Amino acid sequence: MSYQINIEKAKNPKPKPDPKNLGFGKYFTDHMFIMDYTEGKGWHDPRIVPYGPLSLDPSTMVLHYGQAIFEGLKAYRTQDGRVLLFRPSKNMERMNSSNERMCIPPIDEKFAVEAVKTLVNLDKDWIPEGEGTSLYIRPFIFACDPFLGVHPSNTYKFIIILSPSGPYYPGGINPVKIYVESKYVRAVRGGTGFAKTLGNYAASLKAQAEAEKKGYIQVLWLDGVERKYIEEVGAMNVFFKINGEVITPSLEGSILPGITRDSVIELLKSWGMKVTERRLSIQELYDAHARGTFEEAFGTGTAAVISPIGELNWEGKKILINDEKIGETSMKLYNTLTGIQNGRIEDKFGWTVEV
Ligand SMILES: *Cc1c(COP(=O)(O)O)cnc(C)c1O
Repeated sequence: MSYQINIEKAKNPKPKPDPKNLGFGKYFTDHMFIMDYTEGKGWHDPRIVPYGPLSLDPSTMVLHYGQAIFEGLKAYRTQDGRVLLFRPSKNMERMNSSNERMCIPPIDEKFAVEAVKTLVNLDKDWIPEGEGTSLYIRPFIFACDPFLGVHPSNTYKFIIILSPSGPYYPGGINPVKIYVESKYVRAVRGGTGFAKTLGNYAASLKAQAEAEKKGYIQVLWLDGVERKYIEEVGAMNVFFKINGEVITPSLEGSILPGITRDSVIELLKSWGMKVTERRLSIQELYDAHARGTFEEAFGTGTAAVISPIGELNWEGKKILINDEKIGETSMKLYNTLTGIQNGRIEDKFGWTVEV
């Protein structure tokens, strides 16, 4: 399939935000990409237009039943002025896997990467320059029929917006405290945990809010059936280093298949380290801690890249990891991944794509 992207440039470009105060997801660039889907016609009319509000009928399906999916990736500015994306085709592949689960028609993955490149190129002046900064890219698709029946929509919009973002760790990378969640669950097998779909995030807010009240930054999710096996940490995948071996929960339908997770596994293997994907219980972690073999824990995701964990609170029992200091493997992974992403380290894997 070949599409032509129609470009309508913003007549009044906005002033750029203060690069020292970007935060995350607060500012948006001058343009956005939009494409429509109509049953019988397929995806059509790809265009880039000035960033601005959408007009939606109050009965628009997504507002009622949440038939929608999203993605998240970043563009990085290198020291020599190039712009790099990190494994963007993986995001588009995952977008289609989320689409499939939510009865949303598939997109053309190659074209979606081209759409990202075209939009980022047009708004490249918005890509911040400082250490740890990036242009966050948010593609999303939602159901558009003005209709209240519970049924897959016949019309959709695929939109891409861009948000210049500050460093995830303004004060330097530091381990966080995590509450092991035994009451609420994020997903179950057969459900939608593997898809980046809206309801998963709405359903996770309550547990996070309660954990924050107790002084924890995020929750560690356990499986929805037995509340025994570890799944994810907040909206990140999770890894543990026990006795020299790195272990991460296997993907069995309730866990989001992270691109950072996949990259971490490949990197560790390339360093000759032992990496295992399997079920891992919270009791096993507790026992490893008691034996003194629990060495490191960290979350992985596009936003933080690597987020080291310093404490797990499991029903009042506190598990302190590596004296609440960042571990050697976590640090090396963070430096290597961010180095590849911003072009400081040679990309032997072919992960980066120049815009
Ligand atoms: C997006 C996401 C991740 C991380 O995926 P990346 O591709 O590494 O950014 C992990 N868990 C959940 C629930 C997510 O939504």
